[in-house]
Amino acid sequence: MTFREILGQDTSTAFFRHARKSGRLAHAYLFTGPEGVGKGTFARALAKWILCRKPADDACGACDSCRQIESGNSLSFVHLTPPTDRKGVQKTVIDVESVRDLNARLASKIAAGDSRVVLFDDPIGDDAANALLKLLEEPPAGNLFLIVTQSPASLPATIHSRCHRVRFRPIADALISKRLEERSGIAAADARFLARLAQGSMGKAVAYAEDGWKETRDKLREIAAGRARDPENYDMGEALDALIKEGAEAEDSGEKDGEPDTAIADYRKSLRKTRERARTCLAILALFYRDLVMSRENGAEAADPETLAELGKVLEKVTTDRLIERLETLLQADAYLRRNANVRLTIEWALVA
Ligand SMILES: [Zn+2]
Repeated sequence: MTFREILGQDTSTAFFRHARKSGRLAHAYLFTGPEGVGKGTFARALAKWILCRKPADDACGACDSCRQIESGNSLSFVHLTPPTDRKGVQKTVIDVESVRDLNARLASKIAAGDSRVVLFDDPIGDDAANALLKLLEEPPAGNLFLIVTQSPASLPATIHSRCHRVRFRPIADALISKRLEERSGIAAADARFLARLAQGSMGKAVAYAEDGWKETRDKLREIAAGRARDPENYDMGEALDALIKEGAEAEDSGEKDGEPDTAIADYRKSLRKTRERARTCLAILALFYRDLVMSRENGAEAADPETLAELGKVLEKVTTDRLIERLETLLQADAYLRRNANVRLTIEWALVA
């Protein structure tokens, strides 16, 4: 990954080029911004460029350092993410043990003129954040710390005060849809819908594209059509409930005791997929509600006018205030899911709230 390949973050690229050129790189940066706008990708590109043996405006991609980073074998680039435990189950946060291991690595001196980049990739546990703070208070020479987070409020103010903050903004729809067309061969109309759905996040757009968004949208269209055909007897709430729950079916509470570790790991993986699926459903619904409100208020163009027209008929008698309330509930449900809330309970809450 290099700056060249990053979408829509030219301001940050220019900022770091200038800082380096003028010898004013700080020792720690905090990257904030919405999910999927490229904070982590940018941090990796920055690390590669800082460590590149022949850096120009970007990493060269060909020197030993660039190649080692690409293959994950660089000793100068430390990338911390939530670790997996002995059973192969991924933890939800970077824990304090990870930072202790890091301290041991940082004890090895860096050759004069060389540097090392340490990337903390969200989410960071409270104990780990305190240990990180100690590192930032007395940063070992030659190390550059990059901290990526989408919930800056969860980090202590003392960490904020020791980092230079770089804000990442949503990416323009046109850039996202263009890239989806070019890289993934997605048809123009679908790419535009996905870009709207992803709200400035390339990461989300790609995730939706891989997660059967179209199927979900088409089912929603069927639900709307069903209601339009038989307004008296068609239970729209029930149909929507079924649609979202389809993604939630796999989640049940509790561990599966006595099974081999790999089965547990597979099970966890399927839960993660379920969560993503449920989030896709919520996002599509939220987009339709948003578009419906917008088209009522100012006739704005919808991401999918055809489906919206169907849905508009069905929700004709629902007031705009109520639509906005529904929209807020959907967004709140998504925030709960992002923070690892139980999928089924959250969806049930979202549909009755
Ligand atoms: Zn290089």
